[in-house]
Amino acid sequence: MKYLIVLVVVLVGIWFWRNNRRAALREKAQSRAAAKPVAGPHQHATEVVECAVCSLHLPRIDALPGGRGMYCSEAHRRQAEK
Ligand SMILES: [Zn+2]
Repeated sequence: MKYLIVLVVVLVGIWFWRNNRRAALREKAQSRAAAKPVAGPHQHATEVVECAVCSLHLPRIDALPGGRGMYCSEAHRRQAEK
């Protein structure tokens, strides 16, 4: 029984740590997007788009266009548009 409690505490700790990390990563991505310079003549080359499924940010040149937005992979495009 004692070990079960220790296991639960460890799992909750890992869960909290992962949640914090995800929030920090998202904040970082948002501040980076906000700090992006205003559109210029070379903008299309480095423009960042967001995957409609997992919200991953990736260069437009690497993204897959779909009927409902841009996707990071063929799997996510199929998942969103099936
Ligand atoms: Zn995705």
